[in-house]
Amino acid sequence: MGNKKTQAASRREFLRNISNGSVLAVSGLAYYSLSSCKQPSEEKTTLLTTDGKLVKVANSEIEEMEHLHQGASPEEARKGIPGKKFVMVVDLAKCKNAKKCIEACDKHHNLTPDRPYIKVLEMQDNEKSAPYWMPKKCFQCDNPPCVKVCPVGATYKRTDGIVLVDNERCIGCRFCMAACPYSARVFNWGAPPEGQLDLPYSPETSLPSKIGTVAKCDFCPEMLRQNKLPHCVTSCPNGVIYFGDEIDDTVTNGEETVRLSTLLKEKAGYRYMEELGTKPRVYYLPPVDRLFPFEETTQENSES
Ligand code: SF4
Repeated sequence: MGNKKTQAASRREFLRNISNGSVLAVSGLAYYSLSSCKQPSEEKTTLLTTDGKLVKVANSEIEEMEHLHQGASPEEARKGIPGKKFVMVVDLAKCKNAKKCIEACDKHHNLTPDRPYIKVLEMQDNEKSAPYWMPKKCFQCDNPPCVKVCPVGATYKRTDGIVLVDNERCIGCRFCMAACPYSARVFNWGAPPEGQLDLPYSPETSLPSKIGTVAKCDFCPEMLRQNKLPHCVTSCPNGVIYFGDEIDDTVTNGEETVRLSTLLKEKAGYRYMEELGTKPRVYYLPPVDRLFPFEETTQENSES
C-alpha cells in the first residue's frame, strides 16, 4: 500500500513522464502508455485507460492528480499506517503553560477556543506539594471504552494505535463522550466555518467538521503519513512533547531523539489513571527538576 508521500511522488513522476513519452505504473494497479503527440493546434498525449483503451487527451485537459486524491483512502484511514505503533510522552518538568500546542492544534483542526482538543490543566497532587501544568488530550487508549460503546462503529482503533472518529458515520449519540474517563472528546455544536466545506473529507483530517458529531485529538495522522510530527509537538517552544513509534523504541520532541524505553525507565514514566485498565498510549514524565518555577497563568507568562 502506498502512503500519501509515495502516491504524491508517483503522481509528480506521472506528470513529468507525460512529456517524455515513457511508460510507468500508477498506484500499482494500471499501466499507462504515454507518448507525446505534437499537433498544430494543441499538444496531446496518448494514454492507456484502466479498461485497455488508447485515448488522446489534450495536455490542457490533464489535471494534477494530487488535487483529486488528497489524503488516505477510506480503507487506509480505517486500518492505519502499517508497521507503526505511535506513542507520545509528555515531560511535565518542562511545561510552563505556554499554550502554543493548543494554538497550533486549534488552527490546524479549525477549532474554536470553546472546544479545544488539548487542555493544559493546573494540577496539585496534595496540599504540601507544588502545583504543575499538565497538557491533556485523547490518550489513544489501547483498551478504549469509547470505541466499545459506539453503536455504529464511527469511532475505531487502528493498527497503528490511533483512535479515530469518522464523522460520516457518527450519529451524535455521545455515548463515547460519556464512556471516556478522561473527558477527551468534544461535541460539534456548530456548523463548520465556510472555508472548510470544500475540503475533501477524511477521518484522518476530521475536516470538514460536521454539526452534531463528536471529535477529539487524533495524533495528526495526515502529518504522520508525510513522516512529519503532530502540530502540538513542533509548536511547543519548550520541547515538552515527545512523539514516536513504540516498535522503533524511539521518540523525539523535534530537537532531541531518545529511546522510549530508556526515557520511561530513567524518568519514571507513567500513564494517567493507569488503574482504569484503558492502556493509554500517552505517557507522562513526573514534574521533578523543573525547568521553570510554577506561575499562575497570565497573558505575560503564557508566552514562551
Ligand atoms: Fe477514547 Fe477517551 Fe481513551 Fe481517547 S482518552 S481513546 S476518547 S477513552
